[in-house]
Formats: sequence, C-alpha cells, structure tokens
Amino acid sequence: ATPMALLVGTGRGARIGILIRGPQVLESTRRIDTVVLDKTGTVTTGRMSLTDAVPAGDVARDELVRFAAAAEAGSEHPIGRAIAASSASSTAASSTSTVEAFAAEPGGGVQAVIDGRLVVVGRPGWLADAWSIPLPTDLDAARADLETRGRTVVAVACDGAARGILALADEPKPTSAAAVAALRRLGLEPVLLTGDHDRVAQAIAAEIGIADVRADVRPAGKAAVIRELRADGRVVAMVGDGVNDAAALATADLGIAMGSGTDAAIAASDLTLMRDDLAAVGDAIRLSRRTLRTIK
Ligand code: ADP
Ligand code: MG
Repeated sequence: ATPMALLVGTGRGARIGILIRGPQVLESTRRIDTVVLDKTGTVTTGRMSLTDAVPAGDVARDELVRFAAAAEAGSEHPIGRAIAASSASSTAASSTSTVEAFAAEPGGGVQAVIDGRLVVVGRPGWLADAWSIPLPTDLDAARADLETRGRTVVAVACDGAARGILALADEPKPTSAAAVAALRRLGLEPVLLTGDHDRVAQAIAAEIGIADVRADVRPAGKAAVIRELRADGRVVAMVGDGVNDAAALATADLGIAMGSGTDAAIAASDLTLMRDDLAAVGDAIRLSRRTLRTIK
C-alpha cells in the first residue's frame, strides 16, 4: 500500500464522519472479524431517565429520590446525571443540604455524606460486596423484574441500610439495530460488553440482534474480555465512549471511540466517529477494505 493512496482513504474517512489517527489504521481495520460494542452510550443513547423508584418499608419515595439526587450531584456518569436531574427538588435539595466527601467508584457507584448521613448509590452487587449492604428480598425481586424489562437498577443506601432501588431506562439508538445487521453482512461478529447486569444486557441485545453478551464486567475486566477474544485468534474492534472503556479500546486491534464520548476514550482509540451513530463502524470497515483493494 502506498502512503499516498492510504491518505486519500483517510481524507474520505473524514468526509463520511470518521477521524482516522493515521494511515496505518486502515490496514488493521481490514482484518477485523469481531466488533465488541459497549452498551451504555454506544449502543444506547446514554441519555438515561428515571422510570421507577421503589422505596424500602417506611421510606417516602420523594426522600429516596432526593437523597440519591444529592449524592449523585457531582457524578459524571449517565446514571448519576439522570438521577441528579430527575428530582424536581434536587436543585433545592443540593442548595439546602450539605454534600460532603463525594467519591465515585467506576463500575460501582457513588458515595457522599448528605446532611451528615452517609449515602451510597450504585450497582446492587457493589453495595453488597464492597459495603456489605445486600438488598432485602422484596427489593431484590422488584429489581429482577425491572432488569428483565431492560431497566438498569441501582440501589440506594443510607446509614448502612438499603433504602430502596431506582430504575433507569436507556433506549438503543434508533440506528443501532440496522448498524448491527450491517456489521453481520460484512461478516463481522457483534459482541455486547457492559458493566450492567446480565438481565438488562440480554434485553438490550435482543432488541438490536446481538447473541453474544458479556455482562457484569468491571472496568478492568473489559480489557480482559478483549484479550481473551484475541487469544482465541479473533481480530477485534472495540467501540466505546466511556472512561471505563479506555483500557479495552487500547487493547483492541482497532479502538473506535464515539465522538460524543469522553476524552479518555478518544485518546485511547484509532478511529473516532463524528456521528453519534454505530452505522459509521460498518462504513469505516467498508471504506478501508475498498481503499486497500484499489491500491493493491
Ligand atoms: P457500562 O459498561 O454499561 O457503560 P459502567 O461500567 O459505567 O457501565 O457501570 C456499571 C454499573 O455500575 C452501572 O450499571 C451501575 O450499576 C453502576 N454505576 C456506575 N456509576 C454509577 C453512578 N454514578 N451511580 C450509580 N450507579 C453507578
Ligand atoms: Mg459507555
């Protein structure tokens, strides 16, 4: 391949909304046989909305949401932003309550001291394992039911006890199902990768036509999944948007970042999609195959 012809391909990429780090990227794009897709913000819009709040026992629904919103006020995660924005009283809450010692755990959740009380919001498994705060059986049943319907569920604890669960909806982008079908037509095997619960991941995967689902994967585990696929002889593209995807993007044969994604994801990637649309992944692979064919 002559560098000149490759540069022409690179320019064409820019015109169809794909930024390519360098001409050498096209060569690896051609050999890809597996495309791993992050769920939140990549396959889905990442614009989450709070759909359900299920309080424990004597807790008031508004109280549950208010405390969670105050704890998430400093969060940059789509889940945290949705919870913080959901409560009509959240602005009032954050101006009237004191929020101290905020900390976020990637793939886990957040903690903060609200008016002197320790509030933890996050993945139910994280609250159970890291905080020894499991969900009581009634909340756990409600959780399973919501997850089966594709809702992401987080637990809310205050002063060491579970106070309720919150469910969030995050729909697949309207273009995701067609983009997955296009990948298959190019002979590429799609894989859904997420830190979310398996029941949620299966529901989303079924909507967009993906059979291979790797769920409940912690941020560090995402790169390990890519390494395993490569060890099986697959040539792997990874598409992601989050800070939690950066290591996996760097580990893949081809890292593809959503342009709307975090700086960390873009920095770790070979390609950046300028449209917020997975169709560009198939376009990029088709473009590189065509470009390389014309210059052989
Ligand atoms: P994904 O792989 O879907 O992008 P992440 O690795 O970012 O997901 O997060 C995995 C899980 O960690 C989420 O489904 C959620 O349960 C929990 N989590 C992460 N950040 C937060 C937060 N700010 N508030 C509540 N839960 C969170
Ligand atoms: Mg994501």
